[in-house]
Amino acid sequence: MTRHVVLIGVDGLRIDDALAGGDAPALTAFVDAGSMASMEMEVPTLSGPGWASILTGASHAEHGVRDNFFSGHNLLDHADFLSRAWFADQTVTTWVATSWPPIADPAGPAPIVWWRDEARRSGRHNVIVRDGETYGYSRMDGEVVAWSAQSLRWLGPRASFIYLGEVDLAGHLYGGAAPEYRAAVASVDGRLATLIESVRERAAANPDEEWLVAITTDHGHLDIGGHGGSDPILTRAFLAAQLISAGGVKRPALPTAIVPTFVAPYLLDMLAGGDGLVAGGRDL
Ligand SMILES: [Zn+2]
Repeated sequence: MTRHVVLIGVDGLRIDDALAGGDAPALTAFVDAGSMASMEMEVPTLSGPGWASILTGASHAEHGVRDNFFSGHNLLDHADFLSRAWFADQTVTTWVATSWPPIADPAGPAPIVWWRDEARRSGRHNVIVRDGETYGYSRMDGEVVAWSAQSLRWLGPRASFIYLGEVDLAGHLYGGAAPEYRAAVASVDGRLATLIESVRERAAANPDEEWLVAITTDHGHLDIGGHGGSDPILTRAFLAAQLISAGGVKRPALPTAIVPTFVAPYLLDMLAGGDGLVAGGRDL
């Protein structure tokens, strides 16, 4: 069996509300049939530092991303998990698609996911960047998911990261307790259903593949909107995961509580065929 890993990031998702409120049936079903860890985010609970920690396995102090401007960062010494998978084995194909440019835009101040032009030009690294800030997250998430659904089904990259920003924008505009926020959660839940279905179809057609699909977030949102501080509604995050193959769905091993720096080593270990219980995971 060849392992594949897919991480889907929903920016600014209040996971407890999403699971309790009935707005996210696809995510709820995914969690019910899979494994879930609660994840405590480091302060400041901002997207730049949060995603940098999740994607690289490094703490705020180590990667040096302090805000969404990325000035003075040390991402050169803390590569993202897609790049590290490729450094370890150049046959590994990778996919990143995002509606928030700092995740992967080579023209921006980061990016967190390395551009890796040689791999990109040879088709082993594919990058889809859309600008949700300028053109709207709902529409740009739609393009990210349309491209990613095709990629997962037909290209079958070994390691992927897919970022969705609509929920976070609704939190900023209307607040984390607003009906508009709940509507954005429902919208993104439909996108999750599309991506999960793509992996199911891929796995059903390729019995020699086993797919770890993981879903996460980088912080919550205050009732009035906004994030950055240490309020539990902001530091509360999660990692949910399923192992999907032609034989059906399995629950991968996952500690009940993790920190963001657990995620990248976990995904790399799973990609390499391990059980994901990397050092530090078991005892958290
Ligand atoms: Zn964020």
